[in-house]
Amino acid sequence: MSNSKPGKVWLVGAGPGDPDLLTVKALRVIQNADLVLFDNLVSQEIRALFPKSVPAFYVGKCKDNHSIAQKDLNSLLVKKAAKGLNVVRIKGGDPFVFGRGGEELLTLIKAGVDAEVVPGITSASGCTTAAGIPLTHRGLAQGCTFVTAHAETELSVDWNALAQINHTLVFYMGVSRAEMIASNLLKAGLSAATPVAIIENGCRENQREVIGQIKDLVSLVANNNVQSPALIVVGEVVSLANELNPELRAAVSAETLNQHVA
Ligand code: SAH
Repeated sequence: MSNSKPGKVWLVGAGPGDPDLLTVKALRVIQNADLVLFDNLVSQEIRALFPKSVPAFYVGKCKDNHSIAQKDLNSLLVKKAAKGLNVVRIKGGDPFVFGRGGEELLTLIKAGVDAEVVPGITSASGCTTAAGIPLTHRGLAQGCTFVTAHAETELSVDWNALAQINHTLVFYMGVSRAEMIASNLLKAGLSAATPVAIIENGCRENQREVIGQIKDLVSLVANNNVQSPALIVVGEVVSLANELNPELRAAVSAETLNQHVA
C-alpha cells in the first residue's frame, strides 16, 4: 500500500522462537506492516502471526548461502521505505546481537530513511533461562560474556581472557566450531571439568539440552547430533539446571528415588 507519506523501516527482534516471547511492541509493529522481510531464525509460530494480507519474504541466509546479498537487502529496504511502505525487517533474537542490525540501521540512517529498532530477547538470555541456567548467580558467576564462534574473515577472540574470566560464557554459532572452542579454552587453562550445556532450538517446542563437561564438548555435540540453532554455555551456572530445569529436576529425583529403592 503506497501513499504520499514517507515510509519507515522497523528493525524488529523476534526473540528466540516462542511467539509469547515477542515484545508487545514487536507484535504491534508486525500488525501494522505493509511488507515483512524475515530470516531463518524467525520461527514458524512467529511467521504465523504475520498479517495474511501482507507480503512476507524470506531474506535470511543459511550457512554459506545468502538468499539475498546484504547490500541488495539494504537497498531494497531503502527503496521500499521511499515508496511509503511500513517495512518490518524481522530477525531472530535481538537485531543488534550478532545480527547485523547495526549495519542495516546505519545504512538506513545514512540514506535518510526513517528507521527504528525494536529490541528482542537475545537467545543467550532466553534459552538459558528457559533451560534453568541463570546467566549470573551469586557465588557462581558475577558476569557473562556473549561470543561468536563464527566470523566472516578471521575470528579475533582472546581465549586466555575468556578462560581466566571465571564467569559464564555463551557461544553463538558454535555447533560446527565445538572442537575449536573446547581446545582453545582448555589450552588457555580452563578446567577440563567445567560444566557445559548445549541448548538446541531454545524456547521452541523442540528445545533440547545436552549437559556435560567442556573436555567432552566435541563428543556431546557429535553423539547427540546437535543441530543449529544451538548455543554453547560454559560455566558453573550450568550445574544449577539440575535443580532449576523442571525436566532435569524430575529426572534427577527419579534417579535418587531409584537409588533409595535399590
Ligand atoms: N540475533 C540473534 C543471534 C543471531 S546469530 C540473537 O540475538 O539471538 C545465530 C545464532 O544464534 C545461532 O547459531 C545460535 O547460536 C543462536 N540462536 C538463535 N536462536 C536460537 C535458539 N532458538 N536456540 C538456540 N540458539 C539460538
